[in-house]
Amino acid sequence: MSETFDFGILGGGVIGLSLARELCNRGRVLVVDRQNVGQEASWAGAGILPPASAKNAIHSREKLLALSFQLHEAWAAELMQESGIDNGFRKCGAIHLARTPGELASLNGQLLELQEDGIQVTPLTAELAVKRVPSLAAIQHKILAAAWLPQEAQIRNPWHLQALKQSCINQGVQFLENQGHCQLRLQGSNVTSVQTETGEEISAKRFCVTAGAWTAELIAPLGIQISTVPVRGQMLLFKLPEPIFTPIIYEGTRYIVAREDGHVVVGSTLEEAGFDKSTSESGVKSLLNFANGIVPELNESNLVQSWAGLRPASFDGFPYMGAAPHLDNLWIATAHFRSGLLLSTGTAKLMSQILCHETPLFDLSPFRIDRG
Ligand SMILES: Cc1cc2nc3c(=O)[nH]c(=O)nc-3n(C[C@H](O)[C@H](O)[C@H](O)COP(=O)(O)OP(=O)(O)OC[C@H]3O[C@@H](n4cnc5c(N)ncnc54)[C@H](O)[C@@H]3O)c2cc1C
Repeated sequence: MSETFDFGILGGGVIGLSLARELCNRGRVLVVDRQNVGQEASWAGAGILPPASAKNAIHSREKLLALSFQLHEAWAAELMQESGIDNGFRKCGAIHLARTPGELASLNGQLLELQEDGIQVTPLTAELAVKRVPSLAAIQHKILAAAWLPQEAQIRNPWHLQALKQSCINQGVQFLENQGHCQLRLQGSNVTSVQTETGEEISAKRFCVTAGAWTAELIAPLGIQISTVPVRGQMLLFKLPEPIFTPIIYEGTRYIVAREDGHVVVGSTLEEAGFDKSTSESGVKSLLNFANGIVPELNESNLVQSWAGLRPASFDGFPYMGAAPHLDNLWIATAHFRSGLLLSTGTAKLMSQILCHETPLFDLSPFRIDRG
């Protein structure tokens, strides 16, 4: 490609694609990926969008959560118009369950926090929980407490990624996929181009690295260090003959997400296994036991698929979002850990502002790249 782009985005997961969509009216945008876009963590995720409110938000992370959550409904409608693809955004609500004293204590704490944050949440008796999800009848006697979050939503992330890509294509964003490992070329304090393993060298005025769990290794040759670790999450997919409940069901860190067509996604493990994306027998078994122990209809006979993805996690739980230190035209957005699908809309908005040298909606310094 001989033309010079205004924006070169390295990594086409949900963060890179959302940013491309946000930037497409501000200049010529290119997305480069080592494989087909939308195949990594963003595809692997469950698509849960937990509610967040700006009402009492003080810290930038709370503001990012609130902004992102608030944008999703509008994005779903806009993506439908721009791409003709339904991204599966649905306000499905969620039920949190506690069956052990430990879970009860943690759920009580969570309830208080949610109420303080201005998020709608109602305590439920076991009986009322069963009214919302009849399949819970089998464990009704074991439920110590439950809570109902009516604002919780979900997207079908594979659909969302398709919608984002199609919207970008329809708005003139160019894609260079299956390029193998890509490297940034530096001249003084300026990134001049991205060089791909297939021999392409593409120039852009500004670059943003959005390579998820692989971001650290991509920017290390430029002398930029971030402290991230890939955290593997295994998932199961079931297919029931028909949908039997709507709300997302949580217990502890695990969840069951029902789709409208009878598919049910169950997740997830939290493991440090390097860049190994394989599933393990023990991981699959523990998720199967969890799912079956809550919704008896979810059993081996209707298990259709299992997979794992790598969440990009940072040492302090905050994403990295900002300008690369000591360089004139490089930005980085990564480490959204368990909330990258949720945070993608707000991240795209804020990153597009700082890439265009505008003042962001709020202070992004807690997310700065040089914090370690
Ligand atoms: C099991 C699981 C469940 C999850 N559930 C949820 C959920 O319910 N809700 C939620 O909000 N979040 C969820 N997440 C988290 C969310 O999926 C991630 O935070 C998010 O997808 C990260 O997006 P990303 O674009 O940064 O990274 P990725 O989606 O990993 O994309 C990175 C891209 O960079 C490309 N790349 C890598 N190296 C290079 C290179 N050298 N050159 C060019 N391209 C490169 C990759 O090919 C890939 O396309 C979940 C994650 C997992 C694994």
